[in-house]
Amino acid sequence: MNLQRLYEELEKHYDVKGWWPYSDPWEVMVGSVLTQQTNWNNVMTSIEALRKEGLLPVKAMAAADREKLEKLVRPCGFYRQKAQRLQDLAIYIRDDFGADPVSLLRRDDARELLLSRPGIGPETADSIMVFAAGRPYFVAAAYCRRVLSRTGVINSDDYGEVQEFVHQQLGRDSVRLSSLYAMIVEHAKRYCLARPNCRDCFLAEPCSLIARER
Ligand code: SF4
Repeated sequence: MNLQRLYEELEKHYDVKGWWPYSDPWEVMVGSVLTQQTNWNNVMTSIEALRKEGLLPVKAMAAADREKLEKLVRPCGFYRQKAQRLQDLAIYIRDDFGADPVSLLRRDDARELLLSRPGIGPETADSIMVFAAGRPYFVAAAYCRRVLSRTGVINSDDYGEVQEFVHQQLGRDSVRLSSLYAMIVEHAKRYCLARPNCRDCFLAEPCSLIARER
């Protein structure tokens, strides 16, 4: 199956408008850091707890007591690292960008600057770029590499290679790139799990040869 066909098939089944529940750029950045290795319900629990305690804004988070931050992000797991990463990012934006995340996200080198921060890898940086900044980056997360490989679109587990392939095939269109990511995540959670449910999957026909070969 080629990527265009996969996109069209997914589009018939998933409506991902408003898929990312936060639109404020800083809240998207916080969510992107917290969502590493956890599910979205835990992220929302922590974001709402931070909001309730008045520690969600950049300046408040930068100045927050670390132990309190750790307690609030605990539902997301790896809470010490995540609290540290969030506070580092908040301090960086407060000190270098006047506490305005958009000033950072508008820069041509925004992705590189994000990647220079501790604990922010390509997946988190690209999630911020596309969902917080509306910039055209595909998040080639493990879910995506799994579905793209199983459906025969591209058989690679290399983040950069898969991202570049999708950029070339789909074009640098932030709406299409973010939609593809969201649709694949939904598909990976519902059907294409670690142990795939091919029997019920609507892609079984175009994907069947690949599925049988596994
Ligand atoms: S048919 Fe199976 S392997 Fe292919 S996309 Fe569906 S669940 Fe995944």
